[in-house]
Amino acid sequence: MSQHLAKQIILKKNEDRRIVQGHPWVFSNEIREMHGAPQIGDVVEVLTAGGLTVGNGFFNSHSLIAVRILSTSMEEIDEAFFRGRLEQAFELRRRVYPGANSVRLVHGEADFLPGLIIDRFNDLLAIQTLSYAMDARLELLCNLLEEMLHPAAIVERNETQLRTLEELPLEKGVLRGTVSPTIVTENDIRYEVDVLGGQKTGFFLDQRENRALVGRWSRGATVLDCFSNEGGFSLNAARGGAVTVLGIDSSELALAAASANAARNGIATAAFERADVFEKLAALHGEGKSFDLIVLDPPSFTRNRKTVPAARQGYRDLHSRAFRVLAPGGLLATASCSHHIEPGVFLDDVDAAARRSGRRLQLLEWRGAPPDHPTLPAVPETGYLKFGLFRVL
Ligand code: SAH
Repeated sequence: MSQHLAKQIILKKNEDRRIVQGHPWVFSNEIREMHGAPQIGDVVEVLTAGGLTVGNGFFNSHSLIAVRILSTSMEEIDEAFFRGRLEQAFELRRRVYPGANSVRLVHGEADFLPGLIIDRFNDLLAIQTLSYAMDARLELLCNLLEEMLHPAAIVERNETQLRTLEELPLEKGVLRGTVSPTIVTENDIRYEVDVLGGQKTGFFLDQRENRALVGRWSRGATVLDCFSNEGGFSLNAARGGAVTVLGIDSSELALAAASANAARNGIATAAFERADVFEKLAALHGEGKSFDLIVLDPPSFTRNRKTVPAARQGYRDLHSRAFRVLAPGGLLATASCSHHIEPGVFLDDVDAAARRSGRRLQLLEWRGAPPDHPTLPAVPETGYLKFGLFRVL
């Protein structure tokens, strides 16, 4: 099927290795020449400097990521192509979480659908289109989703800043059907999800297994859940037998949701408080308080490479403060969702903070996101979430 396309991108010599090895992004500075005057949103053929076809993909002349490869076998990028890729993604979720009512259905590059994220909450779908060409196919995607999944509604959660890199406007709204808040179950705990008003696509689906893990280690513990959002870690800890749980978040909306979720599940051992985590940890230390298990699940501290040093300083500071209120032999569950912070770097920073605090760490579990957020070995960017569980002596 290796018919050449009229619109072609020729890579610079030696700039083709990463792409030949399966990385789907061609950066604009890796292009030697273009043929056929490709326009933003077009499907182009990508060739090595030596003239070998690498594959075809979406072109965006305004983005640093100039091409996102879709197919290495030069399949036609039409409705049947998207139907096939979507079905391949859905099949994985049916296998890993059969019967789940909340799940990430499509995880972008890692599902070979670059720039497309789809989350399901019961019969509601939340969609993000993060590349120009994917966004241009939103109608087609909605038609396919209605045909394949019969959702009650499809909501667009396209407010992420990533869209500005593709010169796309930030948008949010109902694309199909009508929406109302819905109740989902995760690890046997019920949450209300506001697909239109909640953070990201309404609920963080990437900590499902890590929340369950914290639950399993919580028996008899006093637990401090920092950056508690809708209370996911707190409620799993309470269900797991924690004596007390304190969730801290700076967002009033998140706290109200967390309290409502606790009540919804008949959980009375979890309390939630509005505070800045950094300040609250210092205050708790001042009061001589300590906890048996601390969860740290902060938002991303960096969105680009330039701010990595400041972000690392932030992680070290946060961990130092947490160690001061963690009982001897206590447990630390800590996560980083910044993809610019590599796993080894994050581990080093947690360890450095421990040493500076006169503590020693034992790593008990090291994980990422659950299997409905797959990763590609050749694409480190797909493995953004790092999560470690430590005993801290
Ligand atoms: N642990 C949560 C997800 C956390 S998302 C879960 O399992 O779903 C990050 C949360 O941190 C958001 O709810 C945000 O409101 C909160 N946040 C961000 N900066 C904060 C700060 N300095 N102090 C307290 N909360 C903060």
